[in-house]
Amino acid sequence: MALTPATAQQLQKLGHECLVEADAGLSAGFSDEAYRAAGVTVVDGADELFARADVVAKVAPPTADEVERLSSGKTIISFFYPAQNKDLLELAQGKGANVVAMDMVPRISRAQKMDALSSMANIAGYRAVIEAGNNFGRFFTGQVTAAGKVPPAKVLVIGAGVAGLAAIGVATSLGAQTYAFDVRPEVAEQIESMGAEFVYLDFDGGQQDGAATGGYAAPSSPEFREKQLAKFRELAPQIDIVITTALIPGRAAPKLWLADMVAAMKPGSVIVDLAAERGGNCDLTVVGQRVFSDNGVVVIGYTDFPSRMAAQASTLYATNICHMLTDLTPGKDGKLVHNMEDDVIRGATVAFEGGITYPPPPPKIA
Ligand code: NAD
Repeated sequence: MALTPATAQQLQKLGHECLVEADAGLSAGFSDEAYRAAGVTVVDGADELFARADVVAKVAPPTADEVERLSSGKTIISFFYPAQNKDLLELAQGKGANVVAMDMVPRISRAQKMDALSSMANIAGYRAVIEAGNNFGRFFTGQVTAAGKVPPAKVLVIGAGVAGLAAIGVATSLGAQTYAFDVRPEVAEQIESMGAEFVYLDFDGGQQDGAATGGYAAPSSPEFREKQLAKFRELAPQIDIVITTALIPGRAAPKLWLADMVAAMKPGSVIVDLAAERGGNCDLTVVGQRVFSDNGVVVIGYTDFPSRMAAQASTLYATNICHMLTDLTPGKDGKLVHNMEDDVIRGATVAFEGGITYPPPPPKIA
């Protein structure tokens, strides 16, 4: 949900009148009564909503039908992925509608409060460990019991961006012995501060080759990749749970946990591939599904982790939207002002007043 009763109250203080489609919040735990109690008008369906609203906020990119219902001066705020949705963007441009793409919010400090990608990655990382635990037939924490000693589960997290760090946090707090690998050496400190062990590679006398640009990873050199795969092969027989999150902007996910590594794992081990939607980090991943390898390893390729925690995802996303609308309503008078001199608004606005404003120039402020 892009609106919760709590954010509706905030938005009303900005001079906005809020509307919500009947029953839209049910799966996230927000009833129509709760919205009404927060001053929200509950309308019967999307037709009425699109007809009455000047600003439509939603989670998924709009359908072509929804864009058709927009008109000049109206604004839609949602995930939009303009690079993958050029036709939709042109349709919105043709309608004269303004499009604010939450996935295009620049990843600079000032914009963290509206960084919906990070909100969703955080949930995905958390939920990945929960899904792993649900499929793993043993404890995470080590125990000494009257019936014998139980060793802690060994968890390896590959990729320590937002999702990976969230996964490390949950796995360590459940008592697992957690290891993490990333190509960016600067994350070692963050990994270690969360109680996991950074997996160093001895490469050319140094460590990780990093190859980072603006906090993101670049593809690894073939030599580095070979070293990395050799390290994973060495770890595979001892690791109980692998959570992969490795992504490189604009590319398919790198294949890092190969079939032979799955084959070397113990039966009952679990792999959760958070990169499934972009092709997966694991050879055996099937997008959207849970599959079993011949040797009894569970491989999870779900792509809907935030929806599996709909209440939490809605709370965070609606808050991100509320912050975006706060910046878009500087006069607190219910009137949207797309200040295209503002790096954050400029970056996220991909269609404006009949023009396409994507891609944006690089942000000036870090
Ligand atoms: P991402 O989803 O693009 O990638 C996930 C991780 O995979 C990254 O840490 C990346 O280095 C790693 N990776 C790529 N190739 C790999 C490989 N071959 N092996 C192992 N790991 C590999 O990343 P993200 O979560 O979007 O975060 C990227 C960076 O942006 C981080 O440094 C994060 O702290 C930063 N960030 C900053 C802000 C902000 O300042 N507002 C917000 C969000 C993220």
